[in-house]
Amino acid sequence: MKVFKFGGASVQNIERIQLVADILRSYPDEKILVVISAMGKTTNALEKVTDAFFNQQKEEALLLFEAVKKSHLTTAKYLLVTHYNAALEQLANFFTEVEWLLHDNPVRDYDYYYDQIVCAGELLSTAIMSAYFNEMGIANEWIDVRDIVRTDNNFRDANIDWAFTQQKINSDILSLFEDTNIVVTQGFIGATDENESTTLGREGSDYTAAVFANMLDAESQTIWKDVEGVMNADPKAFPDAQFIGTLNYNEVIEMAYYGAQVIHPKTIKPLQNKGIPLQVKCFLDKTLPGTVINNKAVKNLPPIIVLKQQQALIHLHSRDFSFVGEQPMSDLYELLASLKVKPNLVQTGAVSIQVCLDDRSDKIEKLALAASDFFEVQVEKGLTLLTIRHYNDALLEKLIAGHAVALRQQSPETVQVLMQPNP
Ligand code: ASP
Ligand code: MG
Repeated sequence: MKVFKFGGASVQNIERIQLVADILRSYPDEKILVVISAMGKTTNALEKVTDAFFNQQKEEALLLFEAVKKSHLTTAKYLLVTHYNAALEQLANFFTEVEWLLHDNPVRDYDYYYDQIVCAGELLSTAIMSAYFNEMGIANEWIDVRDIVRTDNNFRDANIDWAFTQQKINSDILSLFEDTNIVVTQGFIGATDENESTTLGREGSDYTAAVFANMLDAESQTIWKDVEGVMNADPKAFPDAQFIGTLNYNEVIEMAYYGAQVIHPKTIKPLQNKGIPLQVKCFLDKTLPGTVINNKAVKNLPPIIVLKQQQALIHLHSRDFSFVGEQPMSDLYELLASLKVKPNLVQTGAVSIQVCLDDRSDKIEKLALAASDFFEVQVEKGLTLLTIRHYNDALLEKLIAGHAVALRQQSPETVQVLMQPNP
């Protein structure tokens, strides 16, 4: 059994969708669980629908949703002939689910509505793709992953109920594979025990695929992307970025932790626990070897560079010049936990603490306000966090040259510099 994950970019247009079918066709006798993301930028579009709905702009929300409908209908019409009517019926059901909700007024919190609306992206995409594969002679079964992946109701960052989900996979998915080689389903979404839709965090499809790989005891997981494999830096920001052929799980966990956009941070653990190798391959050219990630030690890695934009630095000063001891620190961490924010960098001094966070304004404001109960608070915004793993001084100097540095932390393996974006 293999698990494949195709991201939004691999199904963003007709040519690419055809490449995905070609890839599946080249594994004729394999059992493959296929996880497919929402098409192109659909998730972003549905986020806008949610915003409009939540801001009581019903007409705007419906209009924005109409555009999402239209683009999926156009794609379905182009790809499907014999399977068109059946697919259309399925799409119409998903459209109706969202539209019913949009006709209501928001009475619950934002994150709940986000999940009910945004989950449509993966449902629409996989419905079209499954029908298209069948039409192309690639026999497959489509599954609504919300019947399989059970989560808690921590909307937008839901946690999977492993025992329940494993049981569902054993009873529902394994039996499907007795009759078909390919099962197509969604990543990123799940449902609570009350059948409310949930999402697992942006880019969460990689993680879902890993959960399936773990629970199906897959021989491997492959993430199909539009790049050659894992690079040592984002090639958009660093044109001379290098391809890395092999990596180990720990390195990838570190990279994801520091904000590399390669793979969703939660993806590795389920694979590592069962020693399942993760391949990152290019859907534009399936003959390229791609990157293999497993538990073997890798020597001589190039420096790995990660840039995180939109960082806020919160300066917290003790009010009476008393030392920042364990009590203020524990107050601070309790506050971070209660707001569900993860600091990217923390530095402590005698009478101050500095905390660097992703600048999500709502959370920063709440944090600053609550922290002002025990600290003098200042917030600095618009910073960039540079992280280099396996750094050397020459590279570090080159990358920070001319930038005003706000904070710097260093270990033998990793250096992090929080700086003004433009020199
Ligand atoms: N469609 C979701 C997103 O764009 C999940 C994913 O693609 O992994 O974040
Ligand atoms: Mg994606």
